[in-house]
Amino acid sequence: MFRSTVTTATRRVCLTSFVRGTAITKPIRSYSLLPRTPSTLHRRTTPTFVWRRYESSGANPSAKSCPSCGAPLPTNLPACPSCFEIQPLPQDASLYEIMEIPEDVRFDVDEDLLKRNFRQIQRVIHPDKWSSKGPGAYELAAEMSSRVNKAYKTLLNPYTRAEYLLQKEGLEISESDGVQDPELITEILELRMAVEEAESQEDVDEIRAENADNIKVVIDNISTYVEGGNWEAVKRETIKLKYMQGIDAAAEAWPNTANNH
Ligand SMILES: [Zn+2]
Repeated sequence: MFRSTVTTATRRVCLTSFVRGTAITKPIRSYSLLPRTPSTLHRRTTPTFVWRRYESSGANPSAKSCPSCGAPLPTNLPACPSCFEIQPLPQDASLYEIMEIPEDVRFDVDEDLLKRNFRQIQRVIHPDKWSSKGPGAYELAAEMSSRVNKAYKTLLNPYTRAEYLLQKEGLEISESDGVQDPELITEILELRMAVEEAESQEDVDEIRAENADNIKVVIDNISTYVEGGNWEAVKRETIKLKYMQGIDAAAEAWPNTANNH
């Protein structure tokens, strides 16, 4: 009766083990290969959470449940708010996987979805909720929470999102990487000076609006180049975006950043 439920793979393992003289009498469960902290080692009795990977075609729609109590999981994280089983977040988890954002080879992120997921995830893994839930639980939740914050912020801002995608492709933006196009350099410098010399909020708003139009064009370009896998062009546009965001930040902080105040 028991044998009929054993999978072919398990049966093969059993056979091999039998040949070696170490017959296994029950199916093998998969356990995490991640290093465990000593405090959680002794209580590890449940199988690990299945980490949801996102395929290029979009989110994996299969529902997930807690390996400990079977309750449906509200997030993609290895943390169950029903029985308070919590396990380390895989070190190589992508920011998209953490935030449950479909990781197509696309740049555009649904901001509303990102914000919604962030609120939901933080509700589940707020460290205070886990402080009395067994040894190591608070630390795991705190570590998870901090990685979720970082993932959220990185994906929300188009510049850091592009920088992250570039890093994944092995391309870093360094301090010495500047804008190459002389015309654009002039435009950026002019806008920068215009902010510093602005005399009214109206002036500043006008500069911000012009800059926002430029930002929109650059973001569209990044999106197109990401889609086409043209990473050198993505890098070039991302550097532009950095300067344009700098202008926007200066305009937002006006009059504190202005020279004449
Ligand atoms: Zn559970």
